[in-house]
Amino acid sequence: MLTTRLHVLGSAIVCVAFAACAREQAPSYDLVVAHGRVINPESGLDAVRHVGIRNGKIDVISEPPLTGVRVIDASGHVVSPGFIDLHEHGQQEESYRMMVRDGVTSAFELEVGTGDVAAWYAVREGGQIVNYGVSVGHIPARMKVLGDPGTGLLPAGIGGSGTATDAHMAAMETILREGLAQGAVAMGFGSAYTPGAPMSEIERMFRVAAEGGVPAHIHMRGGLRGLQETIAAAAAARTALHIVHVNSSAGDEIDGFLTAIRAARDGGQDVTTEAYPYGAGMTEIQSALFDDWQTWPEARFGLHQLVSTGERLTRATFAKARAAGGTVIIHGRSEEQTRAAIASPLAMIASDGFIENGRGHPRTSGSYAKVLGKYVRDDKTVTLMDALRRMTLDPARRLERRTPAMANKGRVKVGADADLTIFDPATVIDRSTYEDASIPSAGIPYVIVGGQVAVDRGNVTAARAGRAIRAPIAAQSR
Ligand SMILES: [Zn+2]
Repeated sequence: MLTTRLHVLGSAIVCVAFAACAREQAPSYDLVVAHGRVINPESGLDAVRHVGIRNGKIDVISEPPLTGVRVIDASGHVVSPGFIDLHEHGQQEESYRMMVRDGVTSAFELEVGTGDVAAWYAVREGGQIVNYGVSVGHIPARMKVLGDPGTGLLPAGIGGSGTATDAHMAAMETILREGLAQGAVAMGFGSAYTPGAPMSEIERMFRVAAEGGVPAHIHMRGGLRGLQETIAAAAAARTALHIVHVNSSAGDEIDGFLTAIRAARDGGQDVTTEAYPYGAGMTEIQSALFDDWQTWPEARFGLHQLVSTGERLTRATFAKARAAGGTVIIHGRSEEQTRAAIASPLAMIASDGFIENGRGHPRTSGSYAKVLGKYVRDDKTVTLMDALRRMTLDPARRLERRTPAMANKGRVKVGADADLTIFDPATVIDRSTYEDASIPSAGIPYVIVGGQVAVDRGNVTAARAGRAIRAPIAAQSR
């Protein structure tokens, strides 16, 4: 009883009288997050607790206070599992610096992915700001096999529009199987970017994903009918399916999209989805999405904003930019459409972010803070618990069947990886804009990655505790 009381008081004055206190006084944990409102969507915990971290893991979640080498006072703040972004193209230091200040502790490139999984992980070895992972992608496999001239992420010619022979498809399957053996956590698809690939080709590659036990993440084409075809192909191939950015793929058909996904789930099919909280999209201007640009009415060009300069385009400047390459922001969805996607309990939050040389889409820097500040606090579109579930637990579960490391993420529980996001629910908000995507979110003073403080009082530290998240590697690929 006395010991317990001393421990609680933790007071040097009381301890002087007792020899045993010397040991009690020594910090017990590497890091303590004290007095925070700990929210764990898996258990439903929402209460003030003290979190003790040791060796990069959550060692204790305690009602009595704890001692640590460092103690962060999280009074008045939420202590959440770190956010897990399943859709982040910006897999370099500059993007990581923006995302971590938006609360992201694990970032995955799963939509496009890579054609060389081993090389992708190799260049990031040695520690990054956040944890990272990748899919093996049908798009890069197709570009490689068909000899696409594109130098960016996406096809700029035959890789998108070309027809693949049976031999081409067999070569793609080989690349995809290799990627799975090298630890890809998912398989990426972009039927919207590969109009030359019929659904039979997509379904054939879905079967490779099913073989590997990974979910297929797809930027699909063709609106509601396209969604139904995609769901049918995934069912035939028996693969788990993830529809990326349902908000932009659906546009004004968002209610129909969510109903179709719900119906597939109710029918027992493994289908999930995600959304980002912005009314504009962004993509490469040379991609197949714009192949019909010459037929557009004049007004449509003005919805397009060149990322490198921030200027709105005309027919003439669009033609020039299309020839030169680069990325473009596409305005035009309504706030009601965005809100419908964010309101749906089905949609995980994922940024689809990318920033380079300070230029990009504000979703890179502000997606999570915008959901928490605008849609949870100000508009009350979503509850805090539901929003956090869709930022943490749901994405972890999407990957953990094939990638067991994910079972230790997305939760504040004893034994889990100490990836934590500490934010003020009264002030958290995005600040980045379409003109300047390099402004970090506000109200997220601390972010912890692998037990180390990656964001300290709002500033990115020198910690590089982010590690590769990878599915088990096949013996022959080591
Ligand atoms: Zn994307």
